[in-house]
Amino acid sequence: MRRTLFEDDHDLFRDSFRQFVEKEIVPHHERWEQEGVVDRELFAKAGASGFLGMEVPEDLGGGGVKDFRYNLVISEEVQRSGTGGAGLGITLHNDICMPYFLHLTNDEQKQRWLPGICSGELITAVAMTEPGIGSDLASMTTTAIRDGDDYIVNGSKTFITNGINADLVITAVKTDPSLRHKGMSLVILERGMDGFERGRNLDKVGLHSQDTAELFFTDVRVPAANLLGEAEGQGFLHLVHNLPQERLSIAAAGVAAARAAFDWTLEYCKERQAFGQPIGSFQNSRFTLAEMKTEIEIGQAFIDQCVLALNAGELTAEEASMAKWWCTELQGKVIDAGVQLHGGYGYMTEYPIARATPMPASPASTAAPPRS
Ligand SMILES: Cc1cc2nc3c(=O)[nH]c(=O)nc-3n(C[C@H](O)[C@H](O)[C@H](O)COP(=O)(O)OP(=O)(O)OC[C@H]3O[C@@H](n4cnc5c(N)ncnc54)[C@H](O)[C@@H]3O)c2cc1C
Repeated sequence: MRRTLFEDDHDLFRDSFRQFVEKEIVPHHERWEQEGVVDRELFAKAGASGFLGMEVPEDLGGGGVKDFRYNLVISEEVQRSGTGGAGLGITLHNDICMPYFLHLTNDEQKQRWLPGICSGELITAVAMTEPGIGSDLASMTTTAIRDGDDYIVNGSKTFITNGINADLVITAVKTDPSLRHKGMSLVILERGMDGFERGRNLDKVGLHSQDTAELFFTDVRVPAANLLGEAEGQGFLHLVHNLPQERLSIAAAGVAAARAAFDWTLEYCKERQAFGQPIGSFQNSRFTLAEMKTEIEIGQAFIDQCVLALNAGELTAEEASMAKWWCTELQGKVIDAGVQLHGGYGYMTEYPIARATPMPASPASTAAPPRS
């Protein structure tokens, strides 16, 4: 179906980013999949080409345009190229971490961090999940206890996207461990701080080129000037506030991944022969492909409306949740059907469909609302 969401500038941006993917991601992708992490330079190259911090004011190094359609283009193009693992670091940096640095920082923090975030010299991550907790975020145990002008941070996090490459980690901590939601705050931990160590780069089922890592904090002295937001105890509310955009980012990637899976499958069904004819000509294959395509178009229409609503500041938590649930379910369903239509080749990692494993939900997207 013809999409009316984009304007000429977005099409130009798409052309430019597609070339970037072909030149800077695709040739390295296999090596990154083996190594479990992308080269840090990917971020610097993306920054130099204007693909980081599109909504950050120009005087702080960004593009100065608040329009999530640019973020959507990036997500769609990395999925289309089958490099979603490598691209996830960039979409996390732009879609999920950026709002914290843009909207919860004071002037001094903006000057300190945003230019590097936009240039790609400073790679970002958000660390909520701990070995013992995921969904039940308010039970987290990492502490940040005030000591003069600093916090002393102790604890650990796991499953952290960009965990190896990250320079700035938005870290959920308890500044008052006696409380649940109301004891939570967000502080920025920086690469090189004494006592801040990386653990394993975790071996995953999919997204192999994405570094998903453990982080350990032992008496890390973090300046109080690294607190995000105006006061302690607001951390959970800050996390909840950013949920619509985070959920939409994941939902949009879901539809884009489903579309890519469909395209690979259609191509395969046209080429693969069985019983003297392309497997795509069997009626069962045609029914399956028609159903896949139908649901992708329905999901796309919903995503496009959600993106316009987000741009207008009107996307609700409920709508974003609906998008995330339905579109990630669709992603799994389409990929499963695509694997089946590939036969045994659907299980071979040389085929992108075999690598397209969807990932589970993020904690901030599933966490219960704060209770008084
Ligand atoms: C690839 C990847 C990247 C990730 N990146 C990040 C990141 O960058 N930062 C970060 O902080 N985290 C990240 N995570 C962590 C992820 O968000 C968590 O895995 C997720 O929140 C679930 O938490 P958990 O794994 O502890 O599962 P659990 O909370 O232990 O849940 C296990 C099961 O129990 C169910 N369950 C839990 N509570 C309830 C309930 N009240 N009612 C019914 N069922 C329930 C869940 O739905 C699930 O099926 C990442 C995970 C992966 C796999």
